[in-house]
Amino acid sequence: MSSTKTRFLLDEENAPRSYYNLLADLKTPPPPPLHPGTMKPIGPDDLAPLFPKALIQQEVSTERDIEIPEAVREVYRLYRPSPLVRARALEKALGTPAKLYFKYEGVSPTGSHKPNTAIAQAYFNALEGTKRLTTETGAGQWGSSLAFAGQHFGLEVEVFMVRVSYDQKPYRRALMETFGATCIPSPSPRTSFGRQVLERDPQSPGSLGIAISEAVEAVGQKPGSRYALGSVLNHVLLHQTVVGLETMKQLELAGDAPDILVGCTGGGSNFGGFVFPFLGQQLRGGRAVRIVAVEPAACPSLTKGRYAYDFGDTGRMTPLVKMHTLGADFLPAPFHAGGLRYHGMSPLVSHVKELGLIEARAYDQLPCFAAAVQFARTEGIVPAPEASHAVKGAIDLALECKARGEAKTIVFNLCGHGHFDMQAYTDYFAGKLQESTLDPKALESSLGALPTVR
Ligand SMILES: *Cc1c(COP(=O)(O)O)cnc(C)c1O
Repeated sequence: MSSTKTRFLLDEENAPRSYYNLLADLKTPPPPPLHPGTMKPIGPDDLAPLFPKALIQQEVSTERDIEIPEAVREVYRLYRPSPLVRARALEKALGTPAKLYFKYEGVSPTGSHKPNTAIAQAYFNALEGTKRLTTETGAGQWGSSLAFAGQHFGLEVEVFMVRVSYDQKPYRRALMETFGATCIPSPSPRTSFGRQVLERDPQSPGSLGIAISEAVEAVGQKPGSRYALGSVLNHVLLHQTVVGLETMKQLELAGDAPDILVGCTGGGSNFGGFVFPFLGQQLRGGRAVRIVAVEPAACPSLTKGRYAYDFGDTGRMTPLVKMHTLGADFLPAPFHAGGLRYHGMSPLVSHVKELGLIEARAYDQLPCFAAAVQFARTEGIVPAPEASHAVKGAIDLALECKARGEAKTIVFNLCGHGHFDMQAYTDYFAGKLQESTLDPKALESSLGALPTVR
């Protein structure tokens, strides 16, 4: 079937009614999270001060299909199903025999995939009486998404924003405030951990690890508060599977099936949400797919990190999870893809990497911006700096197909647009963006400080 169609749109009534849970199809489950004090596997009670019961249940559930409540689907309908697009102009520019498709999550209220989980998390929190949510944000995508979701379900939202992004992306803060949230640059004097960091380094650019510590500490500052995390955890990836589930149906509409899937990885949520439904199908005996995770060379947890138990935050307050980590003390260079500046990785993504079910590659930010510009000039969408890593990965794979004369079908997740990141593009065109290299000494030292777990 040869069609000239470019956009594959799914009707609202064909939108997914359940999330897909990969844990149902994995023969070996990932190692359990450990209590930071006892080093024993944590139970639901340990997480109860931070998360509502429904989300804790989703975190450990092995049920394959988990129903999406109607109240959540109603908010999803403001922007979902999102389009799947055949990148015909890019294919032509590359002269590749490969077919390139991208799933476009930039149509959401905040311009990325993040509202998919923010809406679900706000709903389940409101249902169990939460009044206020605290969280951290890197580039501001997650903070603005939780701010938007909090408005829908009547929650107050307080966001600790990594200092370097707070300075680089003032419009993200304005967006958070537009959606009714409070935004605080991190490290901040508001928490004892923030004060500690500032004492040591008043000019600290901050990091997601530091901001997480502050947001977790801030839960205890006001009754009725809980914490929300925008990536990494199983329930977050679960909510993001609407992306992959829609893509599956849209590829059917296109009369096509994927050979290669590509996504960028910060904490692993857009990647996991995009690829897990396909991986599940493969694990159940269906079509095998090559799955490629793309990460920044300056924060390369999957390609250069150690698979070990580590803290999710710099303040060492969170449970220990087994993941590919650069060490909780690792401070990534302040490159522009703020959403990818996380020392760790989703334990589920790490687990499937260890099982050999996915592969990973790392790119510097300069070739990623070059790929993003080529994408913008052909497909008309300016990718978020994070998403540019997926674009670069997909372009390279399409060129590898060209070299081998292979007409493969490559599908990638364009997880967000870059309309709030134009300063990064300005810097790129002015030649001010540097290769942000990894300091091997710093990595060695942060890996040396990993907790000892027997
Ligand atoms: C937050 C964010 C990321 C990184 O988070 P993941 O959990 O790895 O998806 C990537 N891209 C965009 C556009 C983001 O907002």
